[in-house]
Amino acid sequence: MEIDIKPTLYIVATPIGNMEDITLRALRILKEVDYVLCEDTRTTQNLLNKYEIKTKTMSYHAHSTDGKESVILNLLKAGKNLALVSDAGTPCISDPGVMLVSHVKEEFGDDVNVVPVPGPSALITALSASGVSSAEFVFLGFLPHKKGRETLFKEISHSKRVVVFYESTHRIMKTLTSLKEHAPNFKVVIGRELTKQFEQFVEGTPDEILQYFTINDDKQRGEFVVIVEPK
Ligand code: SAM
Repeated sequence: MEIDIKPTLYIVATPIGNMEDITLRALRILKEVDYVLCEDTRTTQNLLNKYEIKTKTMSYHAHSTDGKESVILNLLKAGKNLALVSDAGTPCISDPGVMLVSHVKEEFGDDVNVVPVPGPSALITALSASGVSSAEFVFLGFLPHKKGRETLFKEISHSKRVVVFYESTHRIMKTLTSLKEHAPNFKVVIGRELTKQFEQFVEGTPDEILQYFTINDDKQRGEFVVIVEPK
């Protein structure tokens, strides 16, 4: 039995596509806690249903109010054990939860345990099969849409380190175009739809990948991790 005398907030990683990518420990904890705090309760309910977990869910997401946070803090105060999950991967990694964890630590100090339950994360998943050295890398999360975007591409073009970031369907072509402009000779590896049916790694210069996605425009859809390796 892992649950401590002290109330505990578990930060539980869940699959990024393939529903089998969840640890035995994560499943046990999701079963044992009093509530699962979900980015989207419907998404998490699918996972819980698959593993016949009956724990009650409660929503906690990027737009949750202070009121919702107080409810959660009060549950911990009342001795309840909670698990925080996001829609996919590791909570707090380009996902909601950081403020909650920070406030729980501030409010309760050592009286509440905050315990990570590790598992999938898209950036590590992509790096692991990319063939690019991950001895040292910089993770940028999502790139800014407007302010600071051009400056960031300039910085990437001067980077001596591997750079990894997340990208969406809407911006992948724009991003590749910027990489072509700023870092035309760098090697880029794109991990697309990782662990899902149409998982794919595409590698080449920014221009080669742009051409590939232009010819195969169905491949512009999905979720992407972009890995940029300096020359
Ligand atoms: N917390 C998550 C994690 O640990 O990976 C990341 C959440 S972030 C909101 C979502 C982004 O992660 C997507 O836009 C995409 O860039 C990346 N991502 C998530 N799942 C992915 C997958 N199966 N394949 C490729 N990229 C993925």
